Amino acid sequence: MKYQSFIGLEIHIHLLTQTKAFCACPNQYGAPPNTHVCPICLGYPGTLPAANAEAMRMSYLLARALNCELAATCTFDRKNYFYPDMAKSYQLTQFFAPVGRNGWFDISLGSETKRIRIHDVHYEEDAGKMIHAGKHSLVDYNRAGASLLEIVTEPDLSSGEEAEAYVREFRRLVRHLGVCDGNMEEGSLRCDANISINLPGKGLGTKTEVKNINSARFVRRAIAYEINRQAAAKDNGETIVQETRLWDADKGITLPMRTKEDAHDYRYFPDPDLPPFSPDDAFLADLETRLCELPLQRKQRYERDFSIPADTADFLAEDQQLAQLFDDCVALGAPPKVAANWLAGTVQAQLKRTERRVADSHISPQRLAQAIALVEKGRLSASRAKEVVELIILEDRDPEEIMTAHGWEQTSNAGEIDAWIAQVLADNEKVVSDIRGGNPKGIAFLMGQVMKRAQGRADARLVKEKLEQALTGQ
Ligand SMILES: [Zn+2]
Repeated sequence: MKYQSFIGLEIHIHLLTQTKAFCACPNQYGAPPNTHVCPICLGYPGTLPAANAEAMRMSYLLARALNCELAATCTFDRKNYFYPDMAKSYQLTQFFAPVGRNGWFDISLGSETKRIRIHDVHYEEDAGKMIHAGKHSLVDYNRAGASLLEIVTEPDLSSGEEAEAYVREFRRLVRHLGVCDGNMEEGSLRCDANISINLPGKGLGTKTEVKNINSARFVRRAIAYEINRQAAAKDNGETIVQETRLWDADKGITLPMRTKEDAHDYRYFPDPDLPPFSPDDAFLADLETRLCELPLQRKQRYERDFSIPADTADFLAEDQQLAQLFDDCVALGAPPKVAANWLAGTVQAQLKRTERRVADSHISPQRLAQAIALVEKGRLSASRAKEVVELIILEDRDPEEIMTAHGWEQTSNAGEIDAWIAQVLADNEKVVSDIRGGNPKGIAFLMGQVMKRAQGRADARLVKEKLEQALTGQ
């Protein structure tokens, strides 16, 4: 590659707070337009905003998880702009003293780990939503004032692939911490990408910003497109214009939107209505208790400690509930690889088929561990175990209870197995005489017949052993 690429991401997440950023309106979506509004988020004169305590906790928690220097005192500032969807015509944000600065976040690129520096984490409010209908434009202020957190990286990423890996890792981090649902299609997590290229050793080039990319895959494609577009322009001797561009997912291209403003255009100044926020010791101590093992660390632990294949480990670490179920199940004595296979296979398929998550199913670490133990003890066949595991997702019953109720317990009663074999041999005289005459092809058939007669209750290994004995007449 002739040019070096520099990519920085700005990710906005909607915090999972009950109320908006600076008022008591519900922080929810999907309500009829302009029903979740009040004088504060509509920017009436004389109203007083107040920072949301829950949002401050979530913001500091994420900044801490991103290894940032946490602000001993963070302040709130006004970003002035003409916002048609924001009645105040300024946005409350943090410019001078954000929640966190100078952090880092590790992402996994195949077998390598890359450390991406975090420039800052700042708290702000969202704008409303414009709906353009024919000659008219309508505005819905439900989203105006919603609590947002913006996480800005340094330009440490160097390709669309790396940016996609960052977005995916970041998304599962915020889900793990419970600060955002990470749903990109619904706009809970939005990504802007700053892209520049230059000849190697020349430092950053003139950047363009691609706004509001709403899927991890589109992040990769938009950046790849933009790198190629800038390279072609440079090759033709054109100057790259600093501007904001839009990603057109249908055409797979970026388009110019507006020339980019610099920070001074926004005339930031401290908001006179909002007091600064200073976390006390109790607040900071509480953060430490909320910090859980991060998804990437979890994935790496599964690979290292349990020799679980990378893709299965990745799958488990993706969903906090699933990962916790796995850890608890292993703590109860289930062999890790076996438990991982059940979760990635049967459990996942059944959850998907029945449109459930772990939390709204009846599976528990105890139940899964019990089902696994029943197989290990030879009391349940692998195929019946699959049915049992599918049922513990749907029904509030223990595996043993399900097994007993359905009469699925395998018998190790030799007499019972001998009787099934004797019956099958008597019913298939021709096959038996062929086998005894030196053609072993029919053995599998007889085996199948015995298992069928046993209705899944016979231990296959024992049946095979006994059948062979019966055929050779020993
Ligand atoms: Zn409000």
